[in-house]
Amino acid sequence: MSAKYVFGPIASRRLGLSLGVDLVTRKTCTQDCPYCEAGWTTNLTLERKEYVPAAAVKAELRSVLDSGPEIDFITFSGAGEPTLNSKIGEIVDFIKDEYPQYSLCLLTNGSLLGDPEVAAEVSRVDLIIPNLDASSEEEFKKINAPAPGLTFNRFFSGLENFTNHFTGRIFLEIFIAPGINDSAASIERFVELIKRLKVEKVQLNTLDRPGCDATIIPAPAETVKRFVRAIEPVIPVEAVGSFRYKSPSLRGEMPKDELASAIMAMASRRQVTREDLLEALNVDSHTLEQTLKELLHLGVIESERGARGEFFGFFK
Ligand code: SF4
Repeated sequence: MSAKYVFGPIASRRLGLSLGVDLVTRKTCTQDCPYCEAGWTTNLTLERKEYVPAAAVKAELRSVLDSGPEIDFITFSGAGEPTLNSKIGEIVDFIKDEYPQYSLCLLTNGSLLGDPEVAAEVSRVDLIIPNLDASSEEEFKKINAPAPGLTFNRFFSGLENFTNHFTGRIFLEIFIAPGINDSAASIERFVELIKRLKVEKVQLNTLDRPGCDATIIPAPAETVKRFVRAIEPVIPVEAVGSFRYKSPSLRGEMPKDELASAIMAMASRRQVTREDLLEALNVDSHTLEQTLKELLHLGVIESERGARGEFFGFFK
């Protein structure tokens, strides 16, 4: 059976190995963000319905999951807003009832989380990553271009209510768009808004691949640093993209022998750079450097120079 709604698994920076599930047709969304990598929204709507048939999604999931793939997450994502599908709850229950060993993630713009029906339907999801890209109505219009009827107040109060009642994990994503949401006043407002949410951490994101609108450009490192400095006193923060950062509390401490085993396991599968290891193993660079030095000294791994810098692996 060729899959239409289930894709991957794909390796992602944030989620490890993730099996994607697309619950809407391209491109159905409650917003028309100019930075969207999936193109302009052709169906801008707040109407929930069965945009793709739940029965077909479940059949595709069954055909993949019955073989017991080793994945970190099954993720609702794809080209549009997954919570617009009125059968998302049925699909969540299907996975949780029949394949309870898998963790579920929902990537959402957050616009419908204030709807009590949506909140109930996604209540069994393990990890939800909603966006908060605007700190005011004006920014909301520019950066998220919402469907008629979706105001910033409606969006934010729904998000606030949801995060304060949801029992799973929530990471909040902020997309930084220079010139739109990065002024000193914006950052101050973001901090005040974040204080009202119950989320585990904030992930700062900026343009990686070209979006729809060429005027949206990546945020320079200095801009990302301004966000980090303002948000970190309130909540742990991590930044991806050209300027990478993780609050100290997010850098897990792995025992040394475990770290050495993890490095060897990664290097045995493919050659890896320091950046790959830092990203995947969540350690500070000093600890990584010391462990690499020891492994190289013992001759357990080797290093070689490549186009992307120094690689570690088994080269013989
Ligand atoms: S909410 Fe997500 S899918 Fe919808 S337009 Fe914005 S970036 Fe694209």
